Amino acid sequence: MQTQNRLKIALQKKGRLSQDCAALLKQCGVKINWNEQRLIAYSENLPIEILRVRDDDIPGLIFDGVVDLGIIGENVLEEEELGRLAAGETIAYKKLRQLDFGGCRLSLAIDRDQTYNGVQTLANQRIATSYPNLLRRYMQQQGVPFKNCLLNGSVEVAPSAGLAAAICDLVSSGATLEANGLKEVEVIYRSKACLIQRAEPLDTEKQALVDRLLTRIQGVQQASE
Ligand code: ATP
Ligand code: ZN
Repeated sequence: MQTQNRLKIALQKKGRLSQDCAALLKQCGVKINWNEQRLIAYSENLPIEILRVRDDDIPGLIFDGVVDLGIIGENVLEEEELGRLAAGETIAYKKLRQLDFGGCRLSLAIDRDQTYNGVQTLANQRIATSYPNLLRRYMQQQGVPFKNCLLNGSVEVAPSAGLAAAICDLVSSGATLEANGLKEVEVIYRSKACLIQRAEPLDTEKQALVDRLLTRIQGVQQASE
C-alpha cells in the first residue's frame, strides 16, 4: 500500500462515538487494523489512515486542514466553531453528511423541586456548562441574561454543590439528571454525529476516494432506515 497519499480520517479514540465509527467503516468495506495502544491505525485494503484522538480535537484538526475527514458530534463541532468565530478567526470546512448515530440533546436542567416558568426563570442565574458558546447563543436568542460557570466535567453536580442554579448539559436518556435530582426544562440543541471534510481541496485521487466512501455511507444508512 502506498504510504504517501493516504486519506487521513480523525475519529474519537475512546468514547460514545468510537464503536459506531468503527462499525460504519467496516460496513463501508474499509478494513482497519485497530491497535488499542496506537494513535494511528491503517487500512489493509484502502489508502486510509485513522487518527484516534479526543473528540474535542477533531473540529480543530479539520478547520486547520491537518486531517482530511473527521466524524464528530454536531454539538462539539458547533461549539468549537462558535468559539473560533468569537475569537475573530475565520473558519471553513465541508459538512458532508449527518450520520444516524451519536444522537443526544443539549438541555437546560434545574433542581427537580424548583418551579419553572420558561427560560426567563433563569434570568441572571448562574448556569454550569461545558458548552458556553452554544449556551450563550441560545440565551442571547431568548434575550435572557445569565452568568456562566464553565466546567469540563461533573456539570450535573454543580447545583447540589452550590456552584450554579442550573446546568446546560448533554442528555440522552435523562437517567444522569434524575440521579442528581435534576429535571430537564428546555432543549437548546439537538445533535447527531456528522462527517466533515477540510475546506482546502483534496487531490483528485483522495477526493475520488471520499466520493466513493460517501456513496457507501449513503447506501449503509439508507439500508438501516
Ligand atoms: P473524549 O475523551 O474523546 O473527549 P468525551 O467524554 O468528551 O470524550 P463522550 O462522552 O464519549 O465524549 O461523547 C462524545 C459525543 O457523543 C458527544 O459529544 C455527543 O455528540 C455524543 N453523545 C451521544 N449521547 C450522549 C450522551 N448521553 N452524553 C454525552 N454525549 C453523548
Ligand atoms: Zn470530549
